[in-house]
Order: sequence, then C-alpha cells, then structure tokens
Amino acid sequence: MKRLLLCALLLGLGAHEAWPQSEREREYIRRVDEAHLARVVRDLVGFGHRLGGSPSNERSASYLLGAFRAMGLEAEIRIDPPRLSWWFDTFAVRVLSPEARTLSHPWPAPYSPSGEGDSVAVVLLPPEGPIPEVRGKAVLIEGLGRNPTALYDTLVARGAVALLTDAPRWEGAYTEWAFISRLPARESNAIPMFCLARRDGDWIRERLARNEPVWIAFFLRAHRSHRSPWTVVATLAGQEPDYYLVCAHGDGDSGGPGADDNASGVAATLEIARVLAEQVRSGQLPRPRYTIRFAIWGSEYASTEAFVRTEFEAGRLGLLRGVFNFDQVGTGAQRRALYFESNDIPHNEPILRLLEQIGRTYAGKPGFWEEAYTNPSQGGTDSYVFLPDYLRDRLSLPGAEAIRIPSTTIYTAAWNRPARLPQTPGWGPPDTVWIDYSRYYHSSLDVPELTTDREPFRMAWAARAVGIALLRLAWPEAPLRIRSPRR
Ligand SMILES: [Zn+2]
Repeated sequence: MKRLLLCALLLGLGAHEAWPQSEREREYIRRVDEAHLARVVRDLVGFGHRLGGSPSNERSASYLLGAFRAMGLEAEIRIDPPRLSWWFDTFAVRVLSPEARTLSHPWPAPYSPSGEGDSVAVVLLPPEGPIPEVRGKAVLIEGLGRNPTALYDTLVARGAVALLTDAPRWEGAYTEWAFISRLPARESNAIPMFCLARRDGDWIRERLARNEPVWIAFFLRAHRSHRSPWTVVATLAGQEPDYYLVCAHGDGDSGGPGADDNASGVAATLEIARVLAEQVRSGQLPRPRYTIRFAIWGSEYASTEAFVRTEFEAGRLGLLRGVFNFDQVGTGAQRRALYFESNDIPHNEPILRLLEQIGRTYAGKPGFWEEAYTNPSQGGTDSYVFLPDYLRDRLSLPGAEAIRIPSTTIYTAAWNRPARLPQTPGWGPPDTVWIDYSRYYHSSLDVPELTTDREPFRMAWAARAVGIALLRLAWPEAPLRIRSPRR
C-alpha cells in the first residue's frame, strides 16, 4: 500500500515536473537564440523611433517583411488608415549661461514643430499661481498637467518660444535621462518642447531660485504629416484556417528609441516565427493543425484596430483562437519574472491556465524565468483591442461582442514604477502580484545597451513560453493537460 502510494506520488510529481514535456519542446527551446534576439533589437532601434507613418516605420517594416520571407513565410505589408505622424531629423538643446552645460540625454517631445533659438532666457512656470512673463522665453514646466492643450496654447499665446520639462519629478527616477512627455497630437503646435533629465531640471531650478538668469540655445528639425502606418503580417499556414495570432507593436510609441518598448516584443515575435518555421521546413514538425499568424503593428492600437476591423468585415474574426501580444520583454528592475496578463477575463481562462502551467513547470530551470505570474488587466496595450467591450464600444462592430477571443499580453516589466495588483479570485497564489517595472520606460535611454543587450535572456523567456504554448495548442497531437478551473 505504501509502495503503491509512493509510486502514485512519484508518477503524479513526474507528470507535473517533467520538462521539457516532449522532445519537440526541448528542440524548440534549444533553438531560441538570445544573440539573434538582441541583434534584431539593435537593427530596429537603428532605424529610428518607428512611429507609425514615419520613414523609420517604413524602413523597419521593410526589414521585417524581408525577415519573415527569408523564413519561407507568406508575408505582406498592410497600409493602415492615415493618421498624424511625427519624426525628427536632428535636434540640440544646451545651456549657454551662467555656465555652458551639456544636458544629460534630452529628447524632443513628439509632435513638436521645427524651431530654433539662440540665447533664449529660461523662466520657471510655478505649479500654482499666476503665469509669469514668458514672451520670447523658454518656459520650464513640470509637465502639461491635466489639460495639456489649454496650458500649451496659453503659453504659446503669451509668446513663449519653447518649453522645457523635467516631468515626472519622482525621487530617484529619470535622474540622468529624460522621460519623454508628448505634446497634443496635432499639426497646429507652434513651439517645440524638450524633455530633460531631472538632474538638469534641478540645476536650472536652483539657478533661477537664486535669481541667476539661465540662457539656452535650441534647434529642432521635425516633420508632421498624415501618413499611413505600415503593419507587417506573416502566416505559417496550418491545416485549418482557424488561427492563433502572435503580435507586438512595432513603434517606439513614446517617440524615443524604444528598445524595450517595444523592439523587444517585435524580436520575440520574430524569433518564434523563425524557430517554428525552421522546424516545419526541416520536417522536424509537421504542418500545424491551426494556422499561426504574426503581426507587427505599425501603430500601437490604431493598426490593431484596423486589423480587427478588416478581419471582422471579412467574416474571419471568429477564426481567431487566441492572441499572444508581447509588450516590453526586454528589461526589468527588481525581479526575474514573466507575466501573463488578463486572468480576470473569463474566456481567457484556458490560455492563461496553460501559460500558468508552463510558468510553474519551467520556473528556475536553465534558460527560464525565476517567477511567472498571471495577473489581472492593467490596460494600455494591444491585447485589449480584441476584447468584447472594445469591439463593441470602441470599434462599434455590430455583434462582435459575441466573439470571445482569448487575448493576453506577455511582459517582463510594465510602466515606470513597481505596481501591486490584488490577484484575481481563483488565481494565484500569491494573493498579491508585484509587477516589475523599467527604469528606462518611455525615455531617451530605452536603448539596447541598457536593456536588451544586458538582459537578452528575458526576450528568450518570452519566446520560449509562448512557443511552448503554441506547440501544445497548434499541434494538439496529444490531448492537452490543463488543470481544471478552480472557480
Ligand atoms: Zn508598449
């Protein structure tokens, strides 16, 4: 009896702990290549910020099209509906006096117009109280606040020639590099804004507080134009038209270099395509039962919406069996964790239980994460476009809310501060999920040297987790073992 119990226990443990679960998974895991992932990010960042509709979006889309085709996949560029795009050729901003000062990694705010000024006095806009005399001056602001258009227009009407901002003024954050704040997305903006590191903002504030005049010089050559974002869609054909979608926004949506956000997600998408396509082409894997499509959105949200609308109008949205969206898988500040989002959406349960199981099975193994969590929705990324409320309320697609598309985002860091989320009932442990963050989130230093080149293993985790999930979902030759729902 005891022996029987022991055997049962060992068998049970074996089934749960076995990794890789199959030779197929072992081979897939082995082929995911950190050096390749890191190289793709460097290539993408080299094109520029890749904002939808910009020349750097077009260059990166052409690069990705070539990469997918080189894998033997069918691939196309989709020209999305035009929207206002912005890009710059060159910029400079520096302090001339009371002493010459080179600023630490400043950045022009997206939607800034071209502009230049030599020997321009800086004036501080106090957080409260009357607006000082700003005519002909550069105004240092904490940020554009709750009503950015109104404040911006007021300062322009009063004759300001440029804005400087060191927002957000958080202790210990963005000290040596600039968080990238945006101007309102419109063509009528009349003066440029430059984003500064907190150290430089403090330095200017100290001088102004002592009534020492501060003079700057600035230059920006920028472009604003209504142009179409370019989205790349590639297909690994299955035996059935039903498909899984692996995707990532291709733009550095802050308007900065965007290595972690989101060249890392693009690289993970490309890596999954590369490895699976190679395994199918070489005969190591049969053609999958379900089709797998890969999409790199020209513009976060806007291009995803265009894709969903097209699929709906063609009657294909119901063929979509699940969405795996990568957003920020290239860095992390405090943890070695991988996250799978939106366990609070009931129809996400099968896919998130599978990812949860993969997360637990592989945690701590060589080449894998130390911790993995599913977590409730935080919003702010492309996976939300596929959810029923969004389809109904934002896209106004009649009857689309009846289509239940499981849709998750995979990431290693979100936002720029740690977040604590109460776990969705029925999920976990733990009852509280700590969400890791990126020090370089939406900043002038979200560059490969500080993120993906330092920690290429994070992109490999993401590519491995989703690749393993796809092996089990799209090649379901053996029945899937997903633990039964707990609620
Ligand atoms: Zn992002």
